[in-house]
Order: sequence, then structure tokens, then C-alpha cells
Amino acid sequence: MEMKVHYLNCGTMQPRLARFLAPDLASIPCLCLLVETAEQLVLVDTGFGTGDMEDLRRTGHVNLVLKTVQDQERTAVRQIERMGFRREDVGHIVCTHLDRDHAGGLPDFPGARVHVLKAEQEAALNPADFAAKERYRRHHFAHGPRWVLHDTVSQDAWFGMDCIRELPGLPPEILLVPLPGHTRGHCGVALETEDGWLLHCGDAYYMKIELGEDEKVPRSVRLFSRSAYTDRAGALLQHERLKKLLRESGDEISLVASHDPSDYERLSGEKLA
Ligand SMILES: [Zn+2]
Repeated sequence: MEMKVHYLNCGTMQPRLARFLAPDLASIPCLCLLVETAEQLVLVDTGFGTGDMEDLRRTGHVNLVLKTVQDQERTAVRQIERMGFRREDVGHIVCTHLDRDHAGGLPDFPGARVHVLKAEQEAALNPADFAAKERYRRHHFAHGPRWVLHDTVSQDAWFGMDCIRELPGLPPEILLVPLPGHTRGHCGVALETEDGWLLHCGDAYYMKIELGEDEKVPRSVRLFSRSAYTDRAGALLQHERLKKLLRESGDEISLVASHDPSDYERLSGEKLA
């Protein structure tokens, strides 16, 4: 089936002092994919929503450091409307995970079915401590999303990786690739496009350089990445799995991550401010 993929940045973060301390992270996108299938629109992650942009305090204390740029026009719903679609055209949302900067737009699409790993939905709806309440924002789920929960790995692996195929209501070219570590139920979303396979890795890595074999990862990127792990060993294991995937199938699969400025600029052709 033919699928057209649009690359949207649904929220730019400009961490405090990053311009001086970590220039690589001075402007960070929230990369979401808008997929046009034959029947409907599918959104992969939502970035920040209109409610967040109205009052950024709703995105948690961490925003004092991470500093989202307040801009309603950046939200997925506004970008989709500018493209000539309606919010109702988005039939499904597939979430890599439910952190504040990935699930903030869910309330803007109350009719969409929301695919996520079961472990992630449980963690998000029952935040165990302050850190979990910071990352999972209650008001992102208060409208009662139409959850479609996944936890059964398919028999057929995807390029040697466990995956979940045949998501109800979605074409077989879209599947989930569990990558737990950043959060409990974090997963990648694989899409077979006309240009080959694309794996949206969410926050499994922040910058491609982390997946390099011998390049030195800037300290700032390492610190930023570590500060957000739920399970450090798990997150590092995913790095190794993704490196292997790149080594063995890198010419067939293109990897993108939510917050990698260079991924976003290359794919969208847009320069980050
Ligand atoms: Zn994130």
C-alpha cells in the first residue's frame, strides 16, 4: 500500500544555557510523523498539544530547564489543519511512549484510537513517584483516549527484532518494535514507505552519533540522554540493538529519533530556529 510520510516538528525545546554549554542541543525538535494511508491519517507521536501551548506550566517543572517555545502553530493539530485536513481525519495515533513531549497532543484528537504498549499505558496512568508524574502529565489523558493496548510479540521478527504486527485498523506496513529502557513501555514504530523502511526510534537515542561505532559522544548529549532513563541498563541495551540493526541492515532501514536536530533538518528540509 502506498503511504506518504510528512515530517512534523510539534514543539521546539531550547534548554536553558544549552547555547553555551551544549550547542548540539540548543534547539531540539519533537519529530512526529504524519502518515497518509489510502483511508486515513495516522500520526506517530503528537508532540505538545494546544493545551500545553496555552500554559506551558502544564508540561511540568522540567520545562523550567527544557524551555519549550510557546507556539500554537507548532502543534500537530494546527499543522494538520494548515495542510488542508481536519483533526477528525486522524484515525489512529501510534505513540512511541507517553512522555509529556510525545503525548501532549492526544487531547487535540479525542476521536483517534491510540496505540501504545500496555506497560507504557499502565506506567503513565499510575505514575509511581514525582519523577513519573513529571514525565506523564495527567491532563494529557483526562479526556479518556481510545486506547488500543499491545503486549503480544508476533511470531515473525522484523530484521531480527521482536515486533508487534497487525495493529487493529492499521495497514500491515506499520508495526511496533519494543525498545524499553527510556520508559517501561517505550517502542519504536516501523513503517514501510516507498523509499524503504523507516524506524522512528522515539527517545531510544537522542543523536545519531550515539549509535556510531567509535565516534565520541559529546558529554552534554550523554548527560541529557541519561537524565531521562527509567532503566539505564535497558536503554543502553537498546543502543546496542540499534547499532547491530544499522550494521546489518542499515542500507534497508533508515533510523530517526524524536529529538535529533540533524534528522529533522535532513528529512523536513526545514532549519530549526
Ligand atoms: Zn522525548
